[in-house]
Amino acid sequence: MNLLQGIRDYRLLNRHLYRFSDEQIRAYQLSELQKLVAFSMTHSRFYGDLYEGLSVGSLEDFRQLPSINKQIMMDHFDDINTCGLKLGAVRDYAVQKELHGDYLGYYQDQYVIGLSSGTSGNKGIFVTPKSMTERLPFVFLARSGLSSKDLPFRILFLLRVFSQGFEDINAPLIRLNYLSTMTPVDEIIRQINDDHINILMAPPSLVRQLLPWAGTITRPLRMIVSYAEVLEKEEKERFQRTFGTRVVEIYQASEGQIGSACRCGNLHINEDLVFIELYDKNGQLVDRPGPVGTKMFLTNLINTAQPLIRYEMNDLIQLGESCPCGSSFTVIDKVLGRNDDVLYLTNKNRILQPVYPDLMSRWIVTTSDSIREFRVSQISHSRLEITIDVLDSTGETRAAVAERLRTRLTDELSSYGIDADLDIRIETIRLPETMAKYKRFMGLGPELNNGS
Ligand SMILES: [Zn+2]
Repeated sequence: MNLLQGIRDYRLLNRHLYRFSDEQIRAYQLSELQKLVAFSMTHSRFYGDLYEGLSVGSLEDFRQLPSINKQIMMDHFDDINTCGLKLGAVRDYAVQKELHGDYLGYYQDQYVIGLSSGTSGNKGIFVTPKSMTERLPFVFLARSGLSSKDLPFRILFLLRVFSQGFEDINAPLIRLNYLSTMTPVDEIIRQINDDHINILMAPPSLVRQLLPWAGTITRPLRMIVSYAEVLEKEEKERFQRTFGTRVVEIYQASEGQIGSACRCGNLHINEDLVFIELYDKNGQLVDRPGPVGTKMFLTNLINTAQPLIRYEMNDLIQLGESCPCGSSFTVIDKVLGRNDDVLYLTNKNRILQPVYPDLMSRWIVTTSDSIREFRVSQISHSRLEITIDVLDSTGETRAAVAERLRTRLTDELSSYGIDADLDIRIETIRLPETMAKYKRFMGLGPELNNGS
């Protein structure tokens, strides 16, 4: 990894975040989108056909381009990517890696291959060039709310997908070490203490594993940067309380670096890395706080190896008010979860009532601090199976925690006119040993006869 390149990226990204006016952002996005579309039409057979005869003179023109989704992306994998990769070979490679738990190295020594799974079981395959992944740690740094007064940075980066082949950085003011999220907890703690780590970057599911060990960290952390999964407000507060430190969030997906934290700790869309379009349920463009964006399209502005242009995402987000940090980048008030995480339960009027995952999470995590992890599976539209992993440390028995949760959920659901059967189980929940993201919600979707 090139440290100088990293520092240049860091400064450029900071300038975009804090100095760009609204007009400059729009102008920058339009110019990047035009370059991306032109490049893709020339280098990708799929986009060459799809956009034939179309041109992009304004953001409005761009929003009229045909959209794609994961299914289309996978069906046309060979024709979409601009580096001649073939789906069959890439998939074999990714599956072999996953089977052997071997996440190091690059495909053809040039590409990181990422796998993501959906509820329907169709995996998405995402290609990132090596040159880009090597620069990502500095994107994280520039967009994590850290400032020069937090120097020196002694960062421990816990990666679920270890294929990046990141190298440790050891510079006087920046030290960056990587560990796999599969590392045993006591070893993670040992490394935090031995290396005087002051910044921890990890998915929330991993931070939860560290909760019982918080007291054994010898020097207080200065910041926890949460990424890769939704971080609920209550959980963020719990982490802050337990570790006695600031917690900020980075909102990132296989498809791109969607949002990250500013110096005030608020989440902004990375308007110079992705172009995000949100629409409400009536198809109206959402560009202000309030309405839930139920349809989201992402365009990745920096990855031309596998251009994702107007790619439909499943995420549900709500925009926020402008931020005191002064950045003109759009604020995300909250990430409500993914569309396929929404639970649909029949209410007393026999109508399916959506229950958003952020709400369900909040009810569960605020019931007891000893609920370390949980999983909600929808068995039918009137029955949920809720598995909780309960810590022994508090005075309350596990059965009592489960009973309290049952009462709480029954009350909360009944305020929406829902009377569902709740099957609450107590089990040890382990994080997946594959590249897959830990999935807390398994919904059925809104169709009544969708029983599969
Ligand atoms: Zn801000």
